[in-house]
Amino acid sequence: MASLYFYYSAMNAGKTTTLLQAAYNYRERGMEPFLLAPQFDNRFAEGNAEQAWIASRIGLKSPAAAFNGESDLFALVTQAHQRQPLACVLVDEAQFLSQTQVWALSDVVDQLNIPVLCYGLRTDAFGQPFLGSQTLLAIADHLEEIKTVCDCGRKATMVARLDAEGRAVKAGEQIAIGGNDRYLSLCRKHYKEMVKAIED
Ligand SMILES: [Zn+2]
Repeated sequence: MASLYFYYSAMNAGKTTTLLQAAYNYRERGMEPFLLAPQFDNRFAEGNAEQAWIASRIGLKSPAAAFNGESDLFALVTQAHQRQPLACVLVDEAQFLSQTQVWALSDVVDQLNIPVLCYGLRTDAFGQPFLGSQTLLAIADHLEEIKTVCDCGRKATMVARLDAEGRAVKAGEQIAIGGNDRYLSLCRKHYKEMVKAIED
């Protein structure tokens, strides 16, 4: 029986590296993983809709099928599976999945019997759960935390978004994909202190 997995963490814990290692392990055994990654930029408009890249901070990268908020992921996986039998589906930045898409991925598990492994942030920079992550936390068969640390040595569970002056941003768009310099993973205590510092 296949399962739906959710590997969650704060920023810069190595989620993408873990995903790419899993893809490598499958390929090494002659099995085909299907990689999915969100595509937010204008490559959709330019007709290059199917291709995305998954790149990790330590330099690994792999092509992936792109999805946006409208993508029918069950159809996408079914078509790929018909071309070549899939051993698993690996989803990067799974926090950006819609509720419908998470349920569609659960259909991939339950109807096609293909394991689906999702990797994503649990919580946004304002301490709120991402919708995709919230749904995965609700319905995944297996939840696993990929751990990283705050400067104080505690486990970092929160993410602060930093402005150009290095201060925590308190409001704004939930989806703002940026480099490492714009986000900081913190323990809850230090996250609260950082957010409070800009209220005073
Ligand atoms: Zn801390």
